[in-house]
Amino acid sequence: LSERLSGVFDSLTGRGALSEKDVDAALREIRVALLEADVALPAVKDFTSKVREKAIGEDVIRSVSPGQQVIKIVHDGLVDLLGGEGEPEGLNLTGEPPVAILMAGLQGSGKTTTTAKLAKRISEREKKKVLVASLDTRRPAAMEQLAQMAEKASVACLPIVKGQSAVEIAKRAMSAGRLQGYDVVILDTAGRTSIDEEMMGEAARIADVARPRETLLVADSLTGQDAVETAKRFDERLKLTGLVLTRMDGDGRGGAALSMRWVTGLPIKFLGVSEKVDGLDAFDAKRLAGRILGRGDIVSLVEKAAAEVDHEKAERLAKKMAKGKFDLEDMADQLRQLQKMGGISGMMGFLPGMNKAAKAQMANAGFDDTALKRQEAIILSMTREERAKPDLLKASRKRRIAMGAGVAVPEVNKLLKMHRQMADMMKKMGKKGKKGGMPGMPG
Ligand code: GDP
Ligand code: MG
Repeated sequence: LSERLSGVFDSLTGRGALSEKDVDAALREIRVALLEADVALPAVKDFTSKVREKAIGEDVIRSVSPGQQVIKIVHDGLVDLLGGEGEPEGLNLTGEPPVAILMAGLQGSGKTTTTAKLAKRISEREKKKVLVASLDTRRPAAMEQLAQMAEKASVACLPIVKGQSAVEIAKRAMSAGRLQGYDVVILDTAGRTSIDEEMMGEAARIADVARPRETLLVADSLTGQDAVETAKRFDERLKLTGLVLTRMDGDGRGGAALSMRWVTGLPIKFLGVSEKVDGLDAFDAKRLAGRILGRGDIVSLVEKAAAEVDHEKAERLAKKMAKGKFDLEDMADQLRQLQKMGGISGMMGFLPGMNKAAKAQMANAGFDDTALKRQEAIILSMTREERAKPDLLKASRKRRIAMGAGVAVPEVNKLLKMHRQMADMMKKMGKKGKKGGMPGMPG
């Protein structure tokens, strides 16, 4: 997915404005990328057409390539679609206690685990008294499983009574909640491997008894499109109030989440991120959008670049590059720019396709953070003339500069070599198009 988007990105760098053709080319790739991330086709279509509308005619942030611009628009669109940037919608636990939360979902989706996680969260963060109860009469070990997890989470669990139906247990849980002064009762239901009428009927009867304030559908983020159908069916019968996506620690790309949100319009409230009782995160649209794009951090890079880049300098540099000129003065500018943007290591983390080998290569070539300041110092120890004409730098001048910067002569040589490499590259980039790639980035 990342690679695919890198391709779009590369083909778009080096051009100045966001044309209709640019946008369409990028959107074609993004469409495929989203489909690959398990996003449902109607959602993808709707989404890309919205992005297209927004992207065409958008002012391009100077110094940021159109490719990056499109990606940023796509990212922002995803965030919107996932529920916006603000605080995630929490649980509604108002009303006369005990307030019931009903957990629904297919077998194995993570209901029991999430019940314990949620109970822990509510009791710890909201200082509420929480009771959990297993209504799973189908699997013999299910009730025991919840009891054990509740213990780990330090929350109370309704005592197990054999032979009761799920609806009877729900009644018992609610009255225990009332009598024993619980604020919240979380009901963990039985699931099936697929949706059937009996299961839906039972869940609906439980809902009648408990009158839950929240009915959360727990869905496995790794199951992709199946989860979407599940969400739809449950929502028709149960009036869901929110979604919890589990196994977000797996390698699912979160596309199912986007689809579910799009199909049901329900807020995603929590994400399950481990098997442990504390493995529950409040939902964060921005983070998930980044994950779906598979290159989420490139967006941060674009934002950072947009905020930090000195446009005039970038423009001047672009002109010089077009003429094939890049002197040491320019290099000092670039080094300062890099420092502002979080240093090499900061930048590397953002770049797509930056694998370990490439990073090691960069470090070898002298591109590492502690070196940045020393490199700048070396350039500052040169005369203006030397900076403009590095060829002047023979042994005696190098010694003087090294002394001035407090480094050894080989380090001066290394910097000059680096400058030659950068100048070469800049020349090539300058030839390709009027605009360069990322200012400050050697490649
Ligand atoms: P239920 O049948 O819906 O009650 O599902 P369970 O709560 O029993 O979970 C099924 C399996 O998924 C268990 O092995 C859990 O430990 C595991 N599980 C649940 N949520 C998560 C999660 O967020 N991440 C991971 N890695 N595993 C999870
Ligand atoms: Mg269970």
